[in-house]
Amino acid sequence: MDINKLVKPNIRSLRAYQAEEVPCKVKLDANESPYGTTVLKSIETNKYPDPEAKALRKLFARDCKVKAENVLHGNGSDELISCLITTFGGPVLYPVPTFSMYGIIAQAQGEKKIEVPLDKHFDIDLGKMLPLIKSRNPKLIFLSSPNNPTGNCYSSDRIIKIIKQSKGLVIVDEAYQAFSGKNEFLPLLKKYRNLVVLRTLSKVGMAALRTGFMIAGKEVVDEVNKVRLPFNVNSLSQKVAVDTLQKKAQLRSGIRSIISERKKTMKEMIKMDRVGPYPSDANFIFFKVDGAGSIFKKLLSKGVLVRNMTGAVENCLRVTIGTPKENAFFLKSLKQVL
Ligand code: PMP
Repeated sequence: MDINKLVKPNIRSLRAYQAEEVPCKVKLDANESPYGTTVLKSIETNKYPDPEAKALRKLFARDCKVKAENVLHGNGSDELISCLITTFGGPVLYPVPTFSMYGIIAQAQGEKKIEVPLDKHFDIDLGKMLPLIKSRNPKLIFLSSPNNPTGNCYSSDRIIKIIKQSKGLVIVDEAYQAFSGKNEFLPLLKKYRNLVVLRTLSKVGMAALRTGFMIAGKEVVDEVNKVRLPFNVNSLSQKVAVDTLQKKAQLRSGIRSIISERKKTMKEMIKMDRVGPYPSDANFIFFKVDGAGSIFKKLLSKGVLVRNMTGAVENCLRVTIGTPKENAFFLKSLKQVL
């Protein structure tokens, strides 16, 4: 696979913005102010952030058992989806229902999108997908696994068949990987040069930081890096992310609690008449319920906001797993409105 040939010609000839950090005594090259705010003592608010987010990328790369050159940082993984589409263009193919930003960004950038329905178990429908990959030759295929909003991981063997068949890049978006415990695609990066993995800190307690990562071969990282805005992840986010990633125990205990609460909530929902929760590998439960639109409104009138997904799948809602107290309140309210 020649990654260079996959890149849009206008990007191929582009050079990345040069914002290296040159060691010096007095830094007077970037039109910064010498006066910052002292509200955040550990951060030099008057200086631009590290454009390469070196400390953060190094730490994240170590956790992923890859090199820092294989990691690119984004202002959330949303931004990396956008950068990928800017770099390679379309057609952009993805199964539906799925995370809506793949389609929104592709369309906003004037690229063709190809939407392929999932099968009845919300898994990839190879019978539909493989012929389309052959005939339409998409530059990018986005696979959210675990999938938002359905909550399940796609079968690994189906994803691998798609990676093998595709002449473009296959992006496995693992935004919810922490809750699935499955870690099958990072180790495959060395084997498949057209595989890209997306991760984010948003679902594990750091959504406010807007920090996501793309993990891929160096040649893909270098091309996408050309379209990344130089200071896309701010200093505050870089610092808090580094400090939090160093405190693994705290992160892990939050994840463990969400997984155990998901199991408990699921058990209770299964017992309810008219409610059909789907298996979940994520931090939410997708469920079918008769009269979903009206249940949604009634839950809200009790103060519980879930996501109304009836536009994507008829009579379906999505509930995020919260604290034990929040989940108990949701379950109690759902029982009442039923
Ligand atoms: N991918 C998927 C599948 C998501 O559900 C989300 C958030 N809803 C994102 C990516 C974007 O995450 P962020 O931009 O916060 O990193």
